[in-house]
Amino acid sequence: MSQQLRMETEVLQLHTRHPFIIARGGRSDYRTVWVRLTDGDGHEGWGEAAPSKFYGESAETILAALVVYADLLPADPFDIEETEARWAQLMRRNPAARAALSSALHDLVGKRLGIPVYRLWGLDPAKAPRSTFTIGLDTPEKVRAKVLEAQEYPILKIKLGTDQDEAILRTIRDATDKEIRVDANCAWTVKHTIQMLPVLKEFGVTMLEQPLPPEALDGLAEVTRRSEIPVIADESCETAADIPPLVGKVDGINIKLAKCGSLREAIRMIAIARAHGLLVMVGCMIESSIAITAAAHFTPLVDIVDLDGAALLDNDPFVGATIGGGQVSLPSGPGLGLRRR
Ligand code: MG
Repeated sequence: MSQQLRMETEVLQLHTRHPFIIARGGRSDYRTVWVRLTDGDGHEGWGEAAPSKFYGESAETILAALVVYADLLPADPFDIEETEARWAQLMRRNPAARAALSSALHDLVGKRLGIPVYRLWGLDPAKAPRSTFTIGLDTPEKVRAKVLEAQEYPILKIKLGTDQDEAILRTIRDATDKEIRVDANCAWTVKHTIQMLPVLKEFGVTMLEQPLPPEALDGLAEVTRRSEIPVIADESCETAADIPPLVGKVDGINIKLAKCGSLREAIRMIAIARAHGLLVMVGCMIESSIAITAAAHFTPLVDIVDLDGAALLDNDPFVGATIGGGQVSLPSGPGLGLRRR
């Protein structure tokens, strides 16, 4: 059997088809870190760390954190629970780096066993809900062009949080009859959100994600009380420990591997949210098919899928789970089922 695992890292330079802009800014160039764990038998497990400045990570902090975490790589890759707990104890504020290692360990054990990760979890990939496709902030002409470009996707997620929000919604509604969901990325106040609720209704919006700043839980509760559509916490909900304070204050939570730091933590969050009757969404960062595929493996357990990070790229280096036509398709190969493009 195998000797000690070996870790290799490589920075990926990703590029979005359009500048990806949300309420707190945006750009076209993104750097993520590709992590490979190799065992003595030549099996390779892959993961990807997608840093978010908002959560305090960059490609540099991820590379530095990975060097520290690499000291605690398990002798046995099946020893995932203990290993992840040790990593989180060692340095808690580097969730994207830990998510990449978690993904690589899951990929590796799936490959050792010769089965896909979703099978390890007993999941049926056909149960995955359809994914949204995001329209970032832009001028009305460009927003209209993006909506036309997104023709194959049945559900759109619209980024808001500007002084032109109503005009953006009108532009999109004029261009399409599709289901639309909205994400204000913390940019609204309670008063403004309450004013926006009838506007969202007028344009047939079906879901509102994180209108208020992360710590504004009482404000979220007030908005949720008045809202006819589900209010989902994203920036207010990073790990499982954030869920109990949100109970009764929002309708659901958005799980992202880059926030929660582990595939196992994501599954724990799903169970905790379910126990409290919350809707469960899975989201992503701008990232390649590696990180998207890691999250796609647990989509049969969730209600709402927003895994368009790789679909927004024009230079995804990998092939894995896809969201063509909005349908989440999981690869059937062992582990995460990824390959290079
Ligand atoms: Mg969001």
